[in-house]
Amino acid sequence: MSSANASRSHAVLSVATRRHDAEYIAGGRPTAAESHTDPTEYYGCNVFDDKAMRRYLPKAVYKSLRTTIDLGRRLDPAVADVVANAMKSWAMERGADHYTHVFYPLTGLTAEKHDSFLDPDGKGGALAQFSGSALVQGEADGSSFPSGGLRSTFEARGYTAWDVTSPAYLMESPAGMVLCIPTVFLSWTGIALDKKTPILRSNQALNQQAARVLRLFGVNPTMPIISNGGLEQEYFLIDGTFVSARPDLLIAGRALFGARPPKGQEFEDQYYGVIPSRVLGFMADVERQLYRLGIPVKTRHNEVAPSQYEIAPTFESGNLACDHNQLIMTVLRKTARRHGMSCLLHEKPFDCINGSGKHLNYSIGSPEVGNLFAPGDNPHENAQFLVFLCSVIRALHRHAGFLRAVVASASNDRRLGANEAPPAIMSLFLGDQLTDVLEQFRVGQVVGAAGKRMMNVGVDTLPPLPADPGDRNRTSPFAFVGNRFEFRALGSSMSAADALVVLNTMMAESLDYAATFLENALHKGGLSLGEAVQKFIEDVMEENSAVIFNGNGYSEIWQKEAERRGLPNYPATPDAVPVFSSPEVMELCGRYQVFSRQELKAREDIQLEQYLKTVHTEACLAVRMARTQIYPAAVRYRQELASSAAACTALGVPASLYSLNELAEVIGHFENSLRTLEERTLALNWTPCEEHLLKSAKECLHSVLPAMEDLRLWADKLENLVADDLWPLPSYQEMLFMK
Ligand code: ADP
Ligand code: MG
Repeated sequence: MSSANASRSHAVLSVATRRHDAEYIAGGRPTAAESHTDPTEYYGCNVFDDKAMRRYLPKAVYKSLRTTIDLGRRLDPAVADVVANAMKSWAMERGADHYTHVFYPLTGLTAEKHDSFLDPDGKGGALAQFSGSALVQGEADGSSFPSGGLRSTFEARGYTAWDVTSPAYLMESPAGMVLCIPTVFLSWTGIALDKKTPILRSNQALNQQAARVLRLFGVNPTMPIISNGGLEQEYFLIDGTFVSARPDLLIAGRALFGARPPKGQEFEDQYYGVIPSRVLGFMADVERQLYRLGIPVKTRHNEVAPSQYEIAPTFESGNLACDHNQLIMTVLRKTARRHGMSCLLHEKPFDCINGSGKHLNYSIGSPEVGNLFAPGDNPHENAQFLVFLCSVIRALHRHAGFLRAVVASASNDRRLGANEAPPAIMSLFLGDQLTDVLEQFRVGQVVGAAGKRMMNVGVDTLPPLPADPGDRNRTSPFAFVGNRFEFRALGSSMSAADALVVLNTMMAESLDYAATFLENALHKGGLSLGEAVQKFIEDVMEENSAVIFNGNGYSEIWQKEAERRGLPNYPATPDAVPVFSSPEVMELCGRYQVFSRQELKAREDIQLEQYLKTVHTEACLAVRMARTQIYPAAVRYRQELASSAAACTALGVPASLYSLNELAEVIGHFENSLRTLEERTLALNWTPCEEHLLKSAKECLHSVLPAMEDLRLWADKLENLVADDLWPLPSYQEMLFMK
């Protein structure tokens, strides 16, 4: 065994000889027994849910807390102490001795700071305590979180506050149980320093405007109208030893080098294929933990790429779905480690095969009014549906850039716009039937959806609408799928919160417009509701139909067509992110009090800063791997070939210089690109300083990244030339096909 590939050989050997049986899984709880238990018995056992609340709270307190949760009211401080005490008893009975406020800083990650329940009693002993104030509010020094200039260091403290609509839960760890309280994270002056606060704000705006529209249809909601989210999560799972043998996977979460494997995903044998048993064991372990956390995981399957999988829970309120998705990502990562594997949530861990996304299935409604994106059974309901549908069309057309901007990151750039994920142009797929109906509205006459008879449009003569748009277009970033919209441009590692906030806010604005339009038409214009709706649809379609596109989003033609239609196309993060401080976005977010100008600017800066840091880290890593791993392997092999040729010549044996010449040439190119990348990386000003953030980000895009691509091109050629026993890095083939 050569020393160059010792870690690679070790990785391969250990995967090949690993035992996959349940007992081997170090640190895993004895899941075998549990796997024979009816999951409905332990579902939600780690959540302080309704059942726990009923059991542990006095009736009056339970009622008060329930109202707070259901109606989104403020928590009565008088009940907080009682709730805290009950929560503490519940948690301690289950083995918890610490609690933490969990919050979601602007990095998109999850943050927690554990505190013990124990306080000294002054007599040498300890008392377990948990006060209402400790439940409701906590102090968090946020100075180490990115704040985009929102907090200068002298007011570095922030505070966390319980979001009662997201229940407290117990997180299992080898250290025991920890009581987790989902919170918002704000500065003392009320500035949002997290991803959750804007969700709650945007929900409020959405509720107000949706209720206005509903009242015009004679519906007077008493419960808040909220957004619902169903989040499909894709991920890669590979053996952990490969990650230890590849600095790029370890540090950057993606392979910076690696030649295309002889077999990739082209056989299409992977999607919905039989799940390998080791992976199935992992999935079952994940699911049991999620069930205990009350997360309704529903589906699991193989995805398109080798070693790629998907997990999806049933939809919940958008706010809860985002919290749960963060938990799912945490549990996936932790559990993979326990099974000797590594869960890669990066958007594009391996070039040449598909990357990973996160689909946000989005709808709005409430138990009282139902799903407002579901076509109705009668003309009156359909008129209401069409108003909500047209509001989405208008919203996306006006704020496509904003929605694009929140899914911009260095890693998601590698996916959006490649021929696998939705393109960077935000368009709406409606399906031919529905588009047809709306087009007819635009020209002022409606034929039934089935194309049968002509109709004059009033509420009572609206045609029956197609319940399902039929074909599902996978190339669209935003698709209507029968009773919800599926937003597919989110990256797999991202928090879904920002996208949810933009959807809610742009919907609030369009529903505001719809309500005002209809109110005016009814009260000032003297129109009937049917006539008003007809006019509204005409108006929206006239202005916004450019955003509807049912064709192939991957095609060249669409890029040109989209430009002709005036739709924004921001291929990369530095192009997209400045949208945050555009007048339209500032105005939109200010009007509905979702973000202040300052908060938007901070988000723009943080997103650019993250981009810059990511590219800079990757570039440094690429240089180091190229110099210390790839280059040595290549020159050693050149040496081997050269000595062999020299020996042959000395002995008078004809020596072929075929491989040697090619290798020497590729090494020459490799050296040149390495030098270029080194120079460009050194020249990059990557210190996060507001003035040159955008300039540096553009330098990353136009100078550093192309140099990295070029270096990779030559490195990958070397991988195909150098003797396999000298190659230091586990290959694509090994990582993706050895399980
Ligand atoms: P597919 O792979 O066909 O897109 P999945 O079953 O993987 O479908 O995921 C669909 C997601 O959409 C699930 O999370 C599901 O609960 C969710 N969903 C279904 N109906 C709604 C709805 N009305 N609002 C929001 N999400 C929904
Ligand atoms: Mg899916």
